[in-house]
Amino acid sequence: MGDYFERIVDVEATGEEAGALAERMVDWMVAEGLITREMSDDGVYSHPVDKGYVPGPNWARALAEPPYPDWLPGPVAVVVGRGYYVAGQGVDSASFAVCPRCQSKTVVINYPEEFETDEEVWQPFEDAIAAWMETGEGSAPCASCGASVPVTEWQWSPEFALGTLAFDFWNWPSLSDSFCEKFSRQLGHRTVEHGGKV
Ligand SMILES: [Zn+2]
Repeated sequence: MGDYFERIVDVEATGEEAGALAERMVDWMVAEGLITREMSDDGVYSHPVDKGYVPGPNWARALAEPPYPDWLPGPVAVVVGRGYYVAGQGVDSASFAVCPRCQSKTVVINYPEEFETDEEVWQPFEDAIAAWMETGEGSAPCASCGASVPVTEWQWSPEFALGTLAFDFWNWPSLSDSFCEKFSRQLGHRTVEHGGKV
């Protein structure tokens, strides 16, 4: 057993706008009946956030398929602040990164031969991400073209995302593509969605 989540990360919001955007999205989700304003910490593991919004009457409208009749969705946690997000367990890096300048791909986890992060390859990215989280700026060099590329511009593998605003739907079944598109339109930004388990 574990606790599952569906997550939407805004990968374009700046640190300055994230707080106000979070409030606007909560207002929108409350208006849509997806969540209520009631907060609960039941089954929320969105470090450092330990509380989320209790689901509303229309929560199932966000789903790809109707839920089982006895399904009990958990709260929706809203995480504001620079951070990185990984779907899945036991891995703390992207599996690859694509340089936006030369399109070359740096492989970090050589699936399916390997299931572990190549620490030597990941280190410059890890350092750059740490710098970005600390200061708002961080760049990692591309091994192919030599460009120093900001971490917010590297194209990460789908299960990895950097952002200043994330929404964790705890114990919700898969969200529908149409809901995610609507969500992204409401934000006015590109988003990355993934699911995982803690
Ligand atoms: Zn490059």
